[in-house]
Amino acid sequence: MRDFPTKTGNGIRTGAQYLEGLRDDREIWTGGERIKDVTKAVGIANGATTLGSFLDRQFDPKYQDKVTYVDDKSLRCGLSFMTPKSVADVKTKGAAYYEWATWSNGMFGRTPDYKNASVMSFASATSFLAQNTKGQGDYAANMTTFYDHVRTNDKVLTHTLVNPQVSHAQAAAGKFSKEVALHVTKETDAGIYVSGARLLATLGPSADEIEVFPSTVLKSDPKNIPFAFAFAIPIATPGLKMICRDTYDHGKSTFDAPLASRFEEMDAVVIFDNVFVPWERLFLYGQPELCNQAFGTTNAVVHMAHQVACGKLAKAEFMTGLLCSIMKATGKDKDMGLKGLVSEVMMMTETVRALLYRAENEAHEDQWGNYIPLRGPLDTSRNLFPKFYPRMVEILQLMGSSSLMATPTEADFANDMAADVSQYFQVANLDAKDRVALYRLAHDVAISGFGNRQALYERFFFGPPALMNAQYFDLYDKDRAIARVDNLLQS
Ligand SMILES: Cc1cc2nc3c(=O)[nH]c(=O)nc-3n(C[C@H](O)[C@H](O)[C@H](O)COP(=O)(O)OP(=O)(O)OC[C@H]3O[C@@H](n4cnc5c(N)ncnc54)[C@H](O)[C@@H]3O)c2cc1C
Repeated sequence: MRDFPTKTGNGIRTGAQYLEGLRDDREIWTGGERIKDVTKAVGIANGATTLGSFLDRQFDPKYQDKVTYVDDKSLRCGLSFMTPKSVADVKTKGAAYYEWATWSNGMFGRTPDYKNASVMSFASATSFLAQNTKGQGDYAANMTTFYDHVRTNDKVLTHTLVNPQVSHAQAAAGKFSKEVALHVTKETDAGIYVSGARLLATLGPSADEIEVFPSTVLKSDPKNIPFAFAFAIPIATPGLKMICRDTYDHGKSTFDAPLASRFEEMDAVVIFDNVFVPWERLFLYGQPELCNQAFGTTNAVVHMAHQVACGKLAKAEFMTGLLCSIMKATGKDKDMGLKGLVSEVMMMTETVRALLYRAENEAHEDQWGNYIPLRGPLDTSRNLFPKFYPRMVEILQLMGSSSLMATPTEADFANDMAADVSQYFQVANLDAKDRVALYRLAHDVAISGFGNRQALYERFFFGPPALMNAQYFDLYDKDRAIARVDNLLQS
């Protein structure tokens, strides 16, 4: 971690400052044990260190102008916090999202710019929050304060939107069970108490704060009032516990596990055991109909989808590059059938690029006086990528076949096997060590636990695909298409 001076005038934080902030009383559980210090915990620490190195790049002259901006008080902050006021601003933000994503080739999915985009959106649509009249919070002012806090301290956020369910039918009907779902248990003059669980918090163990927002549709029924809220609290809040999934970073070297050793961002189920939330940290309360509109009406969903499309472009470009590297190394780039397979990935990549291009170039002013990218192409991208990515992985498996299993370790190049490995693992255009490095990378994308989690992430992280596809259908301008059919029938 580089040691940068923290000057006044910097809202941005160094990696060292970020890691220091994680050393608190947070209650994180993994493998049956409570973690004492996430910055030292095997399986979590490497990902946090990587994120710290990304934060450091905000100070590096090579990247600073691409990923930060100076606000009207001369404070330098992350560009993802900037409120876009022109088409050019939208493109500048897009370039910053893309830059961040290239640092991990999209394999660290939950860089902080994702949540920053959402906080910026809510903070510039505070009159929406001001409509909330239940409870004792000044919700609009709370959001303004929260945005300033996150932006000027460069806080890293996670979020959790989905209630666990005991009955799918009940959840699909817009209702939840207090046995498992997060709900309000008590209201006082100081705030509320909540209990229950939420899934899932990607980056949760290594975030500073968690946003607990509504996403699943709540029927406007008095029984749903206890489930209707939006708030944010520090991860170290008493009673907040996280239970992590198994880690995919098994302490291997960057040669042996090129992705898992760097980009394990961890996911956790969040349990709230009588957690106190002060009124100042609530942004919505007790009004299911407002909760249902929150991401849509504020346009947070559009700004987040913009960040996501930029990240997916970086990831798709990487997948294209990986496949082309294998083609080149093996000489398979002369095979017509295999060219066809890889061109499928190239076309997916160019589809994401084209959608992003249209979204940014047709950016327009919204009802809050901000500029937003055109939503339709971003919705198309976020509904297509959950289908594209698993297919990209499948093509990598078809291309890699048994070579994805012929993967000796780094140590095998320095032991009694070294001569054998160097001889038998060579390929047409690469020596053995470079070939093994390439296929170990492909293995980490297409075969390993890390790689399979990536595919699951792409399928689900933006929401249940069936629901998202159905929403896409609802939002699509169908009348124009139907009119063409009517015109033909009536001619
Ligand atoms: C690797 C990974 C990382 C993730 N990271 C995060 C994260 O950081 N933050 C976060 O909040 N979530 C995260 N998620 C969770 C993600 O948001 C959910 O997986 C996704 O929304 C699908 O929800 P589900 O898994 O509960 O499945 P589902 O069974 O599909 O249920 C989701 C909810 O959608 C609704 N629903 C489902 N089907 C219907 C239907 N037919 N009609 C009406 N309503 C329906 C219900 O309300 C249900 O509760 C992550 C998931 C994965 C796999």
